[in-house]
Amino acid sequence: VEGAGPVVAVLGGGQLGRMLGLAGIPLGLRFRFLDPSPDAAAAAVGALRVSSLHDADAAAALAEGAVVVTYEWEGVPGPTARAAGARAPLRPNARALEVAQDRLAEKTMLARLGLPVPAFAPVDGRGGLDEAVGRLGLPAVLKTRRGGYDGKGQRVLRTAGDLDEAWAALGDVPLILEEHVAFDRELSIIAVRGLDGTTACYPLVETEHGGGILRATRAPAPGPAEAGQAAADAIARRVADELDHVGTLAVELFERDGRLLVNELAPRVHNSGHWTIEGAVTSQFENHLRAILGWPLGSVAARGHSGMVNALGTLPDRERVLAVTGAHLHDYGKGPHPGRKVGHVTVTADTSAARDQGLAAIRAVVDGR
Ligand code: AMP
Repeated sequence: VEGAGPVVAVLGGGQLGRMLGLAGIPLGLRFRFLDPSPDAAAAAVGALRVSSLHDADAAAALAEGAVVVTYEWEGVPGPTARAAGARAPLRPNARALEVAQDRLAEKTMLARLGLPVPAFAPVDGRGGLDEAVGRLGLPAVLKTRRGGYDGKGQRVLRTAGDLDEAWAALGDVPLILEEHVAFDRELSIIAVRGLDGTTACYPLVETEHGGGILRATRAPAPGPAEAGQAAADAIARRVADELDHVGTLAVELFERDGRLLVNELAPRVHNSGHWTIEGAVTSQFENHLRAILGWPLGSVAARGHSGMVNALGTLPDRERVLAVTGAHLHDYGKGPHPGRKVGHVTVTADTSAARDQGLAAIRAVVDGR
């Protein structure tokens, strides 16, 4: 039974939906989620409707009577999102979703806006792969245009001998070839754009990936960050304005020789922003809700220094995590499964040195050392 209070409909019911609910309940919001799994993590914080996200009718029914509909999974098919959007305002809009779903459309848009991206080329057919490699050279990264996440659907090509194997592994689907960037580090910026176009950007964070999956973040990014912050901020604002985006937008970046290149966009709350729950004045989840509801945005300022570590596969020992000074455990309530994001731990501190110390202690627990 849904009591008083505006209803937010969410397409997808994973941990991002769960954290949206955790941020929105204190604001008086109620939540409905659409997810194919009866065990969806977000069921703890709202009403769950179990159905495929390819089911446009189910999405439309979910949005009926809601004040707004949003998505927490960027694989939501465009027609599903549009069907829901016919019943309640869809924020972010379907174009933001569709551009971010297709790596070629995304990079083509970024290049058109004059934003820095790695060299890329579309690949259609095995002959097209040889042609693209001829143009970009090696090493390069071959990726599926759609459906890739957490390092899935991509292969690094180092020598001509790698092409056949990669082609066979990814299958005869639309692909994109990208220059392999010898980056110095990876960074991410989270922007939040309100209904009136007002945009705020959280501090730039340093991200660390292993096997294509986010492992850890440090916020704010260490080092003299002013120049990087301004450049990343400008990129995120340009993209958000172009897409007429409303809500949270994540921009994943490579830093090479002090310059930024855009790797990927996510038109939603993002793993690289989980630190904001304890580490910023307003979390990315609360600000996403404020934005899509047309409410004033909250401050994106960092409170001290934060580090975040993902728990993959299984949760770390709860008591050992909680014994670390400044540590906060987030258990997504999901079953264990190799490589699955089942939780995260954020550590907050007053100085970057104390943060790094806390992060090292948390990593030791998460890695089972
Ligand atoms: P993605 O799914 O595109 O975000 O890729 C996941 C991770 O793979 C990135 O965070 C990088 O660590 C790595 N990666 C992806 N694309 C490239 C590239 N063009 N050059 C070098 N590393 C890459």
